Amino acid sequence: MYEVIIVGGGQAGLAAAYYLKRHGINFLILDSSANVGDPWRNRYDSLQLFTPRMYDQLPGFRLEGDPHGLPHKDEIADYLQQYAMHYEFPIAHNTRVLSLQRREGPFKLSTTNGEYMANKVIVATGPFQTPFVPPIQEAVGKNVKQLHSSEYRNERQLNEGAVLVVGAGNSGAQIACELAERREVHLSASGAIHYKPLHLLGKSIFWYYNAAGLLTAPRTSARGRWLFRQPEQIYGNTLKPLIGQGRIKLHGRTVDIEGDQAYFAGEDSPVRIGNIVWSTGFCRDDAWIDIKEAFRADGALAHEEGASAVPGLYFVGLPWQTSRGSALLGWVKYDAERIVRHALGQ
Ligand SMILES: Cc1cc2nc3c(=O)[nH]c(=O)nc-3n(C[C@H](O)[C@H](O)[C@H](O)COP(=O)(O)OP(=O)(O)OC[C@H]3O[C@@H](n4cnc5c(N)ncnc54)[C@H](O)[C@@H]3O)c2cc1C
Repeated sequence: MYEVIIVGGGQAGLAAAYYLKRHGINFLILDSSANVGDPWRNRYDSLQLFTPRMYDQLPGFRLEGDPHGLPHKDEIADYLQQYAMHYEFPIAHNTRVLSLQRREGPFKLSTTNGEYMANKVIVATGPFQTPFVPPIQEAVGKNVKQLHSSEYRNERQLNEGAVLVVGAGNSGAQIACELAERREVHLSASGAIHYKPLHLLGKSIFWYYNAAGLLTAPRTSARGRWLFRQPEQIYGNTLKPLIGQGRIKLHGRTVDIEGDQAYFAGEDSPVRIGNIVWSTGFCRDDAWIDIKEAFRADGALAHEEGASAVPGLYFVGLPWQTSRGSALLGWVKYDAERIVRHALGQ
């Protein structure tokens, strides 16, 4: 029996663990991965963060290296692993929580490795859980190689032929850019692309956001509401010139695919493709939370800045839980500290 169980040992779970440990609380982290850092380790090979090292640190422990430099994703995976080791957090790995229940008394967590009980539970399972692929994929021919961006590692996984990257968010944009070095690449965007430089006058754009208080501005504040309304920004200055040079062919929304022919909104002729990288995002999966009161009538989580409608149940790391920084490495600590205080009745 634990006072607190944290479900998920990524950056959000580790930040919560840091504050629980500081308060001397009896807690345990349950994590379905084999190692701390695996969500980062399993992302595509070339992934470099858009936040510089000075903003990629969890509370109390430095990330070595140039604070203004942009780390590779494996560096973050290793950093998180060192972080958990440094603070000797108790973590049960390869332990997926299959259901969370509360009838009377403490919470019961049924997992792939037995049952656990806790008075309080902090859910930190991350925003990127179930890959989403639109239904038009059903008509894709068997000779076309399809991968979701979460499965994509590098060009060697692909078949011969042109690549269609569906979705022009930051992952889709980065994948399209690296493939354009050797492939015919088509990028399908459902709306206009909004570019944002990563650096201005030698400083990271996140330095300016941070200095302006944008990343911690509550969602309900004027600045928070403004930021929340902004369309997704594509960071860096690589994509735009590649599109300008015709090395990446930009299309509108992918409306249909028949075999190896992809059809785009506003275009009469299809494009022949050999591969698709679906960069179409993720859905949350909270179905394992087997407590009716944890959800609103529309199925969304019922919570106030991470404090669930179910007493004793909390969330950390939800996108926009309180602010834009809630799901970012350098700012998740603010929600983690507040939620731990709340859980401890402070
Ligand atoms: C391509 C990409 C680039 C990004 N770049 C940046 C960047 O530059 N800077 C930045 O700050 N952020 C960036 N992010 C965003 C964010 O920092 C990460 O998504 C981060 O991994 C989220 O941390 P988390 O702890 O909330 O979730 P995760 O890292 O996903 O960790 C959740 C953990 O919970 C475990 N888990 C899930 N379900 C269960 C269950 N039922 N039972 C037990 N364990 C479970 C998982 O195995 C995992 O270990 C990026 C994200 C992506 C996808």
